[in-house]
Amino acid sequence: MKPAPFNYHRPSTIEEALTLLSETQGAELMAGNQSLGLDMASRNKRPDHIVDLDAVDELSFLDVTNERVEVGAMVTHRTIERSEELDQALPMLPESAKIAGLSVRNRGTMGGSVAEADPAGNYPAALRALEGSINLRSLQGARSVPAREFFTSYMSTDMRENELVESVTVDRSQFPMDRTGMSFIELKRSALGWADVSAAAAVRVAKPDESEPTIEHARLALANVADVPPAVDAVPRELEGEPLTESAAEAVERAATAAADPSEKVHTDGEFKPDIAGTYGRRAIERAYDRATADST
Ligand SMILES: Cc1cc2nc3c(=O)[nH]c(=O)nc-3n(C[C@H](O)[C@H](O)[C@H](O)COP(=O)(O)OP(=O)(O)OC[C@H]3O[C@@H](n4cnc5c(N)ncnc54)[C@H](O)[C@@H]3O)c2cc1C
Repeated sequence: MKPAPFNYHRPSTIEEALTLLSETQGAELMAGNQSLGLDMASRNKRPDHIVDLDAVDELSFLDVTNERVEVGAMVTHRTIERSEELDQALPMLPESAKIAGLSVRNRGTMGGSVAEADPAGNYPAALRALEGSINLRSLQGARSVPAREFFTSYMSTDMRENELVESVTVDRSQFPMDRTGMSFIELKRSALGWADVSAAAAVRVAKPDESEPTIEHARLALANVADVPPAVDAVPRELEGEPLTESAAEAVERAATAAADPSEKVHTDGEFKPDIAGTYGRRAIERAYDRATADST
């Protein structure tokens, strides 16, 4: 099927885009068009006006400082995947950007992904594990919403009408990379499709050279196991202050299993999700821990 007819707008500044959004009835933003295009072709969505963000250069930036990482909304998966700066600062982001095939990676964006808020999406889970924030802008001003509050229910966010995603930010202070490990792992049935379950983990240890380094900071989040990507809240409690022993890893597995709460809306095989979430949650933490320690590969 073809999309229903629509009017096309191509602003070149954020201000122009926001003005179009607030003054044009039935307008929808377009970023990489990897999800919107399908929704429009199937006529699930019939916007009267499309506001294409492709020429808004202000939204295409990567800013990596010693304190934080900020990724502009129009930065593509491919740019994130290939960024050496990001790989040094927050390797979970490039790892989570290996989304589908090159045609999706070359067009799909950070902003489109978080705005869409698919519970199977890679960045929502990564941003929850990294305790990142989503920066929103409207003609009235800017505000920043922690990822834990941004994703509110199935494919819904805290974003208001007439707001757009300007960028996402992660504070680097929790993640000194000389003693932090990160991982993003997925169970996939097809290389180019969505993952059945994904797990995003970050682990900081006190002294990587010790034989059994003590964990100082541990976070785990999951994708495609509930209507909103859950952070596994028990993980800091179970792991911090201890090395990653077998019994601690088993506790992570139990906690990740319990965090899965699949409704019929999440993609595929709800009945298996809790078990897979447990296994992948544990593996993600183990990999992050290995990477945080001196023996990392
Ligand atoms: C075959 C295939 C496989 C995929 N597999 C995965 C996967 O495994 N993991 C994964 O995470 N994703 C996957 N995706 C989705 C992909 O990452 C999309 O690119 C992404 O979800 C949407 O990004 P986009 O830039 O294309 O946004 P668009 O499709 O252009 O927009 C999506 C929605 O976001 C809104 N929007 C876009 N930008 C903004 C903004 N700056 N502010 C506010 N609202 C905005 C639009 O109005 C629209 O409602 C897959 C897609 C395809 C086609």
